[in-house]
Amino acid sequence: MTVQAVLDEIRERPGTGEVIAVVDPATEEQVTEFKDCGPEAVNEAVARAKETAESGVWRDLPPSERAKVLWRVGELIDENAEVLAELESLNAGMTPLQAQGTVTVGSEFFRYYAGWCTKIEGIAADVHTGGLTGIDSHQHAYTLKEPYGVVGLIFPWNGPVFNFCCKLAPALAAGCSSVVKPAEETPLSALVLDNILHEAGVPEGVANLLLGYGHTAGAAITAHPDVEKVAFTGSTEVGRAIVHAAGDSNLKKVTLELGGKSPVVVFDDADLSKAVPMAAFGTFIHSGQACVCGSRIFVQRGIYEQFVEQLANVANGLPQGGPKDEGSLIGPLISEKQLTRVMGYLEQGKSDGVEVVTGGHRLDRKGYFVRPTVLTNVASTSRLFQEEIFGPVVAVLPFDDEDEAVALANDTTYGLAATAWTQDLGRAHRIAKRLKAGTVGLNCQMQFDHSMPFGGYKQSGWGYESGKAGLETYLQTKIVWAQM
Ligand code: NAD
Repeated sequence: MTVQAVLDEIRERPGTGEVIAVVDPATEEQVTEFKDCGPEAVNEAVARAKETAESGVWRDLPPSERAKVLWRVGELIDENAEVLAELESLNAGMTPLQAQGTVTVGSEFFRYYAGWCTKIEGIAADVHTGGLTGIDSHQHAYTLKEPYGVVGLIFPWNGPVFNFCCKLAPALAAGCSSVVKPAEETPLSALVLDNILHEAGVPEGVANLLLGYGHTAGAAITAHPDVEKVAFTGSTEVGRAIVHAAGDSNLKKVTLELGGKSPVVVFDDADLSKAVPMAAFGTFIHSGQACVCGSRIFVQRGIYEQFVEQLANVANGLPQGGPKDEGSLIGPLISEKQLTRVMGYLEQGKSDGVEVVTGGHRLDRKGYFVRPTVLTNVASTSRLFQEEIFGPVVAVLPFDDEDEAVALANDTTYGLAATAWTQDLGRAHRIAKRLKAGTVGLNCQMQFDHSMPFGGYKQSGWGYESGKAGLETYLQTKIVWAQM
């Protein structure tokens, strides 16, 4: 498929809801539009998925056959890498390098989970026990790992290809059928990926793409009585709404990958030649629109001023522009709404007496560009410090000792990721235990591998994605007792 074919195809997709514009965030121009699928399309998609779950057309395939299809999906993603990366840039404002990277990670998700198809196994035990009756008896017991029937996969705009692959690959490996809803802002790459699934041999009706708003299509999926599980990535606010909807409908299971306000703690023995550029990369990448961005940096007082100066220098030097602007490392925010939100936080901060060391303003050009911004003098009780901004904005605060650093780092309702920089091995491992976050980086930041689980502490999520834990998100455990 070409970019133009995708822009045309989406316009032609049937839908009964509102027309939704697709906008290039680097130019503010509408590139295409589509119709919200509407509630009836959700019902039909869930019914199709349920039919395939019950017929076993996918779940009962020999695991090695499922594996071959998943591997083929990975290959086809690689074959279509160029168009997928172009769409990711056009629709999500990613730099070409970032867009290519995310597509590579996406295809690898399918290859990684292709390997798991043949390794889904339970445990077995010969049990000689009185059990709950107290009557002595002998049984053989074993567990079966079984896929959920229909799962709802709902994800945000900040990594459309990544999120599609990170959810679909394990759900398909497990044998689930699904309804899939990307963010209304970024539907384009999902269209290509959906075609790829079918070309690779995923049977009709097993994975069903739905395009529409969260409050329409997303809410209909979440409330649907035949959807057994929802795996959601997005904001904590919507995550909470999904939990309520699950409770109000069929008590469907819910996995949540939510927001973050991740701390970076820099001790005075840190190697600043690594810590400063990583801290900048770890907060300004994708214009701060990554859930794991280290948006609160705590620096030991002795090196505080030096650190702030160096960080501001790196931030100042970051070339910013659209995907077509040569050498750009930082792109735009996703939408006018997000721009208004980020600028709102900055204006509020300025009126509260926050010091803007660098940035703090829009670029004087078309597109939703905000300069990488370093703030100091931010009160730990302020909204700037406590709330997820999801923009290229970082607050830097000093601390005196380890206890204070831990207290400041943990002073948040979020618990997605945390980083510590120190040459003291004992302190590094001690602080890894004390930081309340699902992922901790010691002298490294923004690490990811398909083999490792990813999930949030506190209000950053429920459950895990990626790794074996990511597969188990789509499996339930049945315990079978056989009297001997
Ligand atoms: P969002 O929560 O507004 O939307 C996410 C998805 O949910 C979209 O597809 C949206 O249409 C849908 N949605 C909205 N309302 C819904 C409802 N009532 N019912 C069902 N679905 C609904 O998030 P966003 O603004 O698109 O993305 C940014 C957020 O995502 C940030 O908070 C970020 O931290 C988070 N995020 C988390 C991770 C992670 O792995 N923890 C990864 C990426 C992004």
